[in-house]
Amino acid sequence: MTYSHLFSPIDLGPLQLPNRILMGSMHTGLEEARNGFERLARFYATRAEGEVGLIVTGGIAPNRQGWLSPFAAKMSSSSEARKHRVITRAVHDAGGKIAMQILHAGRYGYHPFVVAPTNLKSPISPFKPFALSERGIRTTINDFARSAALAREAGYDGIEVMGSEGYLINQFTVPRTNKRTDDWGGDIHGRIRFPVEIIRAIREKVGPDFLIIYRLSMLDLVEGGNTWEEVVIQAKAVRDAGVHVINTGIGWHEARVPTIASVVPRGAYSWVTARMKQEIDIPLVAVNRINTPDVAEGILARGEADMVSMARPLLADPDLPRKARQNRAQSINTCIACNQACLDHIFENKEASCLVNPAACREEEFALRPVHSRKKVLVIGAGPAGMAAAVTAAERGHEVHLYEQSAEIGGQFRLAMQVPGKADYAETIRYYQQRITETGVHLHTGVAVDERILAEGSWQSVIVAAGVRPRIPEIAGMDHPSVLIYDQVLRGEVIPGAKVVIIGAGGIAVDVATFLTTNAATSATYQQEWGIDRGLEHPGGLQPAEEARPLREVTILYRSSGKFGAGLGKTTGWVHRLHLKKMGVQAIGNTEYVRIDEEGLHTLQKGRPALYPADHIVVCAGQVRQNELADMARAVGLDVHLVGGARLAGELDAKRAIEEGTRIGMAL
Ligand code: NAP
Ligand code: SF4
Repeated sequence: MTYSHLFSPIDLGPLQLPNRILMGSMHTGLEEARNGFERLARFYATRAEGEVGLIVTGGIAPNRQGWLSPFAAKMSSSSEARKHRVITRAVHDAGGKIAMQILHAGRYGYHPFVVAPTNLKSPISPFKPFALSERGIRTTINDFARSAALAREAGYDGIEVMGSEGYLINQFTVPRTNKRTDDWGGDIHGRIRFPVEIIRAIREKVGPDFLIIYRLSMLDLVEGGNTWEEVVIQAKAVRDAGVHVINTGIGWHEARVPTIASVVPRGAYSWVTARMKQEIDIPLVAVNRINTPDVAEGILARGEADMVSMARPLLADPDLPRKARQNRAQSINTCIACNQACLDHIFENKEASCLVNPAACREEEFALRPVHSRKKVLVIGAGPAGMAAAVTAAERGHEVHLYEQSAEIGGQFRLAMQVPGKADYAETIRYYQQRITETGVHLHTGVAVDERILAEGSWQSVIVAAGVRPRIPEIAGMDHPSVLIYDQVLRGEVIPGAKVVIIGAGGIAVDVATFLTTNAATSATYQQEWGIDRGLEHPGGLQPAEEARPLREVTILYRSSGKFGAGLGKTTGWVHRLHLKKMGVQAIGNTEYVRIDEEGLHTLQKGRPALYPADHIVVCAGQVRQNELADMARAVGLDVHLVGGARLAGELDAKRAIEEGTRIGMAL
């Protein structure tokens, strides 16, 4: 596929860009880290080298009250502006353009000095805000303008004003959070006065030739959000105040609708930007789950937007634009929307990286150095850890042989991609397949490594990445025909009956329960399930969700007393829990397994007998490592390294597997 729309230049007024890819704003945690600005410079410059059209930085506060968390990055003085110079210089040297996002957190700030239009606490924050006085509003407007002027001084090519996702400006624009009765509240004209005056003040300070982007909340996805007519009024007002480009914002952080998780179909929100295109004549940016150049090209070709925003996809592969331009989309490391190393890290106060690209935000640390002496390396197992180890070692110059006993590469990802909402996991397998070819890894599928291969291969290093196998708990009657192991189910070897009980309540149990209850995710089913108002007739774009129709009756049992799904990702766990609740899945802890027979699964529930009749009982009781080959390799005197599940099965996840594989590939 050629990407003629994606790579047609665009004139944004003060800036001309060679393509239509905007790197969306994303906080990385480097903003506050030691040497963070140097590392950010490298991070952004790497994306500029990858040919992204325009970068927007993570949100920078205009003042202290606007901090997301105590001592977060802000732009309120010339000395702060000077620190940013290293970033703008690096991006410009790499041939890129960069705009700074100004974000005032309002009541989403995680500190006691938070302010908002009205003193209403957010459901996701412990801090009750102070209502801004008229004077406070004026000061805040001036702080935005000063911040923009300082951004210009720091060498940025423009700014983005964050007016969506439920942050301060958005708190002013909707009735949910703005209960003011003065000139800054009331009807839509009063509520949007704050952003309009901010844009005017910025324009006055920075002059006409400095790019201003406004991130507009086009769908609030919360009760008390704006009507579509009000959103359009706001769009026109900020345009008239001096904005060059409008970026789309979808959903507040407190919305109970997933907007970027993997359950959200690709490009699921471009229709919103398309509706705005009927109303307004300045460039518009489409957002959310645009993770491949094909999706991006489709949006632009259909005229739904003028640019596309990608944030996580450029964490996953900084060279996405260049590879697309060179028609090498097969080589793109695609973001799978897992959030596990990016947003989950940020919410845990850790630096962001990327599950499929551990080098993200650690570019210096993960820079690959060519080898001085070429080794013959055996990698056992072509799951995420083995694939990462093999291509990294081969790229550096080693002769790598990758053995996989099944017919296809991918390991646990091949199972995960069967789960509704996880189809993108197949992209990671496609990426590694391509990298294996490009780096010249010798791939041997359908071959189980044995003593002969170990002894006769003249290997100088052996990497055991044989992964894990399911743990089979010791319960009487485990050999009953109704008992299935999760991999049999996900592989489609057996189609379970209408009533299923799952043993175990970890990530795989959640996946299996989703697989057994849920039809493949489409845009229509996603909108119905989460009550998204495609007709834009309801305020906030929300309407009553349709009742779910689960494919089966599923019960999850587990032994511990903790909350179900507590170990799931911070930013996606609630989505899985809510989805399974909608699907009628019950999760019951404090279970002691007694036996399995014709009647079903007999248990003790807090000491009292309970029977769970079931057509099938699916075991999702964790994993044990497969490391027997390591002992065998050591026995013949080989240099052995264990990675991923083969090293440690507990708390195995793909993030650790890929990072460990990459690190060992770098270390050999
Ligand atoms: P897991 O998260 O460790 O969960 C294993 C489950 O099995 C637990 O709920 C445990 O619950 C139960 N269990 C353990 N030993 C048992 C025994 N002897 N008898 C009966 N039950 C037992 O493992 P997993 O679900 O297999 O997932 C593996 C890894 O993949 C995890 O690290 C997970 O994070 C990751 N993963 C993540 C996702 C995701 O959405 N982020 C999806 C899939 C997998 P009790 O001890 O309470 O009974
Ligand atoms: Fe995408 Fe997951 Fe990487 Fe985040 S961690 S950028 S969601 S692949």
